[in-house]
Amino acid sequence: MSERVRPYLFYDVALTICSKCFRKLEGKIVFQDHKVYLMKRCPEHGAERVLIADDVDYYRRCREVFIKKPEMPMVYNTPVKWGCPYDCGLCTDHEQHSCLSLVELTDSCNLRCPVCYAGSGPERTEHRSLALIEKMLDAVVRNEGHPDVVQLSGGEPTLHPDFFAIVKMAKARPIRHLMVNTNGLKIAQDEEFVKRLAEIEDFEVYLQFDSFEREALLDLRGGDLRGIRERAIERLNQYNISTTLVASRCSRFRMRDVSRSLVRPPIALLLRKSAAKFSSRPTSFVQRT
Ligand code: SF4
Ligand SMILES: [Zn+2]
Repeated sequence: MSERVRPYLFYDVALTICSKCFRKLEGKIVFQDHKVYLMKRCPEHGAERVLIADDVDYYRRCREVFIKKPEMPMVYNTPVKWGCPYDCGLCTDHEQHSCLSLVELTDSCNLRCPVCYAGSGPERTEHRSLALIEKMLDAVVRNEGHPDVVQLSGGEPTLHPDFFAIVKMAKARPIRHLMVNTNGLKIAQDEEFVKRLAEIEDFEVYLQFDSFEREALLDLRGGDLRGIRERAIERLNQYNISTTLVASRCSRFRMRDVSRSLVRPPIALLLRKSAAKFSSRPTSFVQRT
């Protein structure tokens, strides 16, 4: 027997897709250097290796210990025809209800982030009509009964000219928790807008908040948004608006720098400085690889 071994532990196989052509592939889940990777190979686009967790023990507990029966939605919207993920909508094979539903109000955005998975930007000007958004909200309610969390999203949802009418439409439905996903520009620049946000009951801002480091912001967001971030936080504090800070991390864009900047003094200092009125809830981390 050869004494050669691979540099990782093989753990499982998984269904996955090619990030270029979305072809369905079989992948391998492996452990290496205390991290969990998904390895896949597309016949056309070659091999990919994606970091999917940075804590093997926690990952294994999620897979082996924290398991429960799949929770089903009240209604499925699409039949099984091509198999996962091509039937998504949700199809009847889906193993989880929608614990968090995103309703995309617009394709437009006042940023053009290199990492944007929606391909949004200022050149995209299409906003969803109120009639369509109403249908989307109704579909979420039909599927879930009492949806746990709905996020108004985009693009940049605060750019929708009928943003507050949409909030009112959502509030008229049995949604337990309503949030808006925002890059914070409008909050930083438009105090009247923030005043109106503050008037909405049981509402939360899910605020893009990656870093206070110029380089990391240029990589992730295509601009130096340090001032915008600070002003947005100040405004949200001033009007006592419940907020979750959301950090995107991307391996292609200085993941180490971005994550490190979150625990470095500038943010701690800022949070401390505003502590008297700081209303933000615990930070959420969104990792894209
Ligand atoms: S702020 Fe959000 S929607 Fe706008 S370009 Fe960046 S990632 Fe995309
Ligand atoms: Zn491919």
